[in-house]
Amino acid sequence: MSIRIGQGFDVHRLVEGRELWLCGIKLDHTLGLLGHSDADVAIHALCDAILGALALRDIGYHFPDTDPRFKGADSKLLLAEVCRMMREHGYALGNCDITICAERPKLKPHIDEMRAKLAEVMETEVENVSVKATTTERLGFTGREEGISAYAVVLLTF
Ligand code: MG
Repeated sequence: MSIRIGQGFDVHRLVEGRELWLCGIKLDHTLGLLGHSDADVAIHALCDAILGALALRDIGYHFPDTDPRFKGADSKLLLAEVCRMMREHGYALGNCDITICAERPKLKPHIDEMRAKLAEVMETEVENVSVKATTTERLGFTGREEGISAYAVVLLTF
């Protein structure tokens, strides 16, 4: 069996007047993430981790933010496309592990729904999908609630 590892990182700015999407679900919050797509920072980090494992560049290469096709795009569709590319190259998801850094809103009540949604989009078992939430103890841009960052690592199996 061949295995490959990948990691991804992403940041989006928090602003008023935008919806907040994380791991494919919409959260009730006073602020939302700014971006060309729905700005789902966790899915973007996950896509980059999968693409990284395959050495297939990054999400901005495949889905440029200058392309009107991806304006307001549902990031779940981007993740589904990245998973299609993964399978086309003969790989399957072993497991993925995501960390979201956000001061607010509290993500704990939503973790199970996030894992289930990502598993559905990636056509894998929920046990293969870990989503963790942390704060930066009010330090830095995430601590000041200027943005949300996300990290992801994946293991792919051939
Ligand atoms: Mg992004």
